[in-house]
Amino acid sequence: MPFFKSEAVVLQATDYAEYDKIVSLYTKNYGRIKGIARGAKRSQKRFGGALEPFTCNEVDFFEKEGHGLARLESCRILNPYTAISQDINKIAYGNYLLELVNILTPEREKHPEVFRLLLFFLNLLSEQSPREEILRIFELRLTSLLGYQPQFLQCVSCGQSFRLQEDYRFSIKKGGILCSGCHKGNQAFLSLSHGTIKLFQQVQQVSLVKLNRIRFSPASRGEGKAILLNFLEYHIGKKPKSLEFIEHLKQ
Ligand SMILES: [Zn+2]
Repeated sequence: MPFFKSEAVVLQATDYAEYDKIVSLYTKNYGRIKGIARGAKRSQKRFGGALEPFTCNEVDFFEKEGHGLARLESCRILNPYTAISQDINKIAYGNYLLELVNILTPEREKHPEVFRLLLFFLNLLSEQSPREEILRIFELRLTSLLGYQPQFLQCVSCGQSFRLQEDYRFSIKKGGILCSGCHKGNQAFLSLSHGTIKLFQQVQQVSLVKLNRIRFSPASRGEGKAILLNFLEYHIGKKPKSLEFIEHLKQ
């Protein structure tokens, strides 16, 4: 029975049967893992608060051959992220980060950069008041790491590089900008300004530590939300559930 150890962030935990919990974890060493924590509901002693969403743990687990679920043996809390779990707005934004990782990452595919990105954004959310553009930046960076980032450097139809004289629109299906020769003024494509295109190019390219200095103009906030949420919904096939809660809090 192989035994594993890794740092991991709890993405989701749901009650299972009488005493157990099913947990979705994003681990640094093995990617996204689904596991069962036996007795977690019955006894607080063994897992304590370690299975709460956002919590970063060092986890030990093992796998029985031919069994889809890993068996969670123990957790040692490294960071409980209480600054997030005690603030309703931070919970709403944080849940969205966790849900995107849960939906978009393939199970058991090692990707330490995704783990690093998630921790970076949980730290950011923990330390600052939540800003909606943080979600847009996370969407752009996560899709880039997973290899299906929207394209802002060149027209996705003819391949011509971005230039300032051109008027662009965005194609959800093709996942990128279209030049005027390719969109032909078709209103079915979403409009976006040069400012937003250049901003998104920057978000996709700068180092992680510089991301926090980036600020969106009101226009880019609106365009970014329309484009990226539609783009993600097209890929996922549905709207992420946690978006509803964010919208509800804003009202
Ligand atoms: Zn074109």
